[in-house]
Amino acid sequence: MHSKKRTHSYRKILAVSTYCIVLMAPPGKVEEVVKFAIDIGYRHFDCASLYKNESEIGDGIQQKIKEGVVKREDLFVVSKLWCTFHERSLVKGACQTSLAALKLDYLDLYLIHFPMGFKAMEELVDAGLVKAIGISNFNHKQIERLLTKPGLKFKPANNQIECHPYLTQEKLIKYCQSKGISVTAYSPLGSPARPWANPGDPTLLEDPKIKEIAAKHSKTSAQVLIRFHIQRNVAVIPKSDKPHHIEENFKVFDFELTNEEMETILSFNRNWRAVEMLMAVNHKEYPFKEDY
Ligand code: NDP
Repeated sequence: MHSKKRTHSYRKILAVSTYCIVLMAPPGKVEEVVKFAIDIGYRHFDCASLYKNESEIGDGIQQKIKEGVVKREDLFVVSKLWCTFHERSLVKGACQTSLAALKLDYLDLYLIHFPMGFKAMEELVDAGLVKAIGISNFNHKQIERLLTKPGLKFKPANNQIECHPYLTQEKLIKYCQSKGISVTAYSPLGSPARPWANPGDPTLLEDPKIKEIAAKHSKTSAQVLIRFHIQRNVAVIPKSDKPHHIEENFKVFDFELTNEEMETILSFNRNWRAVEMLMAVNHKEYPFKEDY
């Protein structure tokens, strides 16, 4: 299957529709979830030191390597540098801590979790600790500033941003793709279980118009929400720790949304964010006040 083709090129991975599971799952459960996911074909793992479960993810990966189910080079493992480690002197140590927890020699992609500084990441590529570096939650002005930074050695390979039919991100995706930066969509199902949800918030999985499109294809709303990104050449990282959801979320390569359905889904945009990161709203680099 597509995901067994190995490449270090993130863009190539998108081209072969590699797809992932993500792992903000409760401790104690994560290792089992990872092993199950590898068994059914997932190869891309979106991790972060912030999620506090990299050690269990590493245990799951190691077990499957030991069993001969996968080789390290079959996997695409992503981690993220949290905001408290942006000081140049802390970056390498933070990366090595993630690598040690994950029990890996290198990461395929290392992202700056939130746009508050971009230092020392390039040195991690030179040191062989990561294959590629990227960004997350950057708006186009922040990306532009980064791309025009004097002496930039490695441009970001990927921007991981919230994206779903209520936040379609058309301008930002177009901008990133025009600069050769691939895009990953986080919270693709609208992050229904987020603890900070407000009572009046919209619920994507229950949207009758999404359900209608899903019914036409004999698919679930979640499968339509995932497929939507694949057809935009955007990587997508739905989180689940339930085997039946993990399986369901992988069955998205056997149907196609029509152009009309894609346009209809894009028209649902309302610039609504599930993840506003309000704790950073007064920071000068808070990224979500820009149009895109
Ligand atoms: P998602 O939109 O992926 O929603 C996850 C929720 O949907 C879980 O409660 C899960 O429940 C449920 N779910 C999964 N599959 C199905 C299904 N088929 N049917 C019904 N419900 C389903 O939101 P997240 O916010 O978790 O985002 C996904 C990932 O994106 C994160 O795990 C993280 O890796 C990344 N992320 C990155 C951020 C960043 O700043 N870079 C910020 C936020 C997220 P269950 O587990 O019970 O299946």
